[in-house]
Amino acid sequence: MMIKIEWANSTFAKTNVMTSFNQIDFNAQKALIRVDFNVPVDEFGRVTDDSRIKAALPTITAVLKKNGAVILMSHFGRPKGGVNLKYSLKPIAEHLSELLTIPVQFAADCIGQEAIAKCRNLKSREILLLENLRFYPEEEGGDESFAEKLSMLGDIYVNDAFGTAHRAHASTSIIAKYFRPERRVFGLLMGSEVESLERALISGQSPKLAIVGGAKVSSKIDVIEHLLGVVDEIIIGGGMAYTFSKSQGGEIGKSMVEEDKLETAQSLLKKAVSKGVKIHLPIDSVNSTVFSDIEPASTTEMSHVPTNQMGLDIGPESIAKFVKIIKDSKTIIWNGPMGVFEFGFYQNGTLSIAQAIAKATREGAFSLIGGGDSVAAINQFGLEDKVSYVSTGGGAMLEYLEGKKLPGIAAMED
Ligand code: AMP
Repeated sequence: MMIKIEWANSTFAKTNVMTSFNQIDFNAQKALIRVDFNVPVDEFGRVTDDSRIKAALPTITAVLKKNGAVILMSHFGRPKGGVNLKYSLKPIAEHLSELLTIPVQFAADCIGQEAIAKCRNLKSREILLLENLRFYPEEEGGDESFAEKLSMLGDIYVNDAFGTAHRAHASTSIIAKYFRPERRVFGLLMGSEVESLERALISGQSPKLAIVGGAKVSSKIDVIEHLLGVVDEIIIGGGMAYTFSKSQGGEIGKSMVEEDKLETAQSLLKKAVSKGVKIHLPIDSVNSTVFSDIEPASTTEMSHVPTNQMGLDIGPESIAKFVKIIKDSKTIIWNGPMGVFEFGFYQNGTLSIAQAIAKATREGAFSLIGGGDSVAAINQFGLEDKVSYVSTGGGAMLEYLEGKKLPGIAAMED
């Protein structure tokens, strides 16, 4: 994925406080890199999906190429603030070593004598992985003295862990202040995440479109609120669309609904009108009698789902309408599927939207996909390389879309 970022309207460019990774001279320096190696493992501790490790490789190899030494720190699982070897990063050091085809040293603690000695002895072009940061409650507690101890292990702090950028933890946020501004920097992954979000939300070209789907209105209220001040149009699909439909008097049968969010849905629709943002709801719905992957029972208007059925996907008229809107957009943000894409019979809406985004991207639009399930969908359809950027941080991206300042980003600006 090649992304060319224009910085003209970027708030970061204006404040000019963050040193760019490429400007740093890593020669004979020890780069203390916060990565996100919180990867899924099987019952034998074997890595089942190493995408997060692979995502950190460009930063690691760039430092090594620039003749620096690499000290990696990460969290892994939920050891609840104590040592639990089930969550040791040692196997990850071996996995990383296989990926890089060079040895990766390991320190059995992330602070203390062993870590200090191993970091001190580390030479240029060598790599060391520190043990799980979350073996200390001070990590998640954002403890200053713990952050300071970590900071003493390296010369330059590199934050490449976008997945935890929404947490004010010791290694993701608090630590930054112990490095002078020219000695702290985003890694290549974190940098492109931030740049892509900035481009999508701030500097990207109009018309700007957000596509919001998924199960629950409740988890996306703040996202939609914030996007109302950012984009020109919003498409709403997935399970949450039925709450919007019901709030307008639609009959939605047994479809997913959040009764306590009917008023919220109504007020979001009103706010959109007052802000001049067009919200597009599905026109039709593909329905089933049960929540399972069986042939649809009917396709009806969105507002006329039969009482004994539930809507599990958007219908053909909605697809045609949404595809046209996507085609006419220059910037597209997509979070959340249009239906139960995990079921073959109900994946058509999500697939069609993914294909339309890929086509719009080919024709020059900038597209950003994020949030666990849209990423899973785009990967399932094999279209991940056909969009401009796929975010690696579900929770962090959602909070960014909600307009929140992420602690991991803010700390670098201070
Ligand atoms: P979220 O995590 O809120 O983005 O929701 C994603 C989940 O919403 C996916 O697992 C989808 O299967 C589910 N989903 C999407 N559309 C529907 C629907 N119409 N009814 C029930 N679940 C849905």
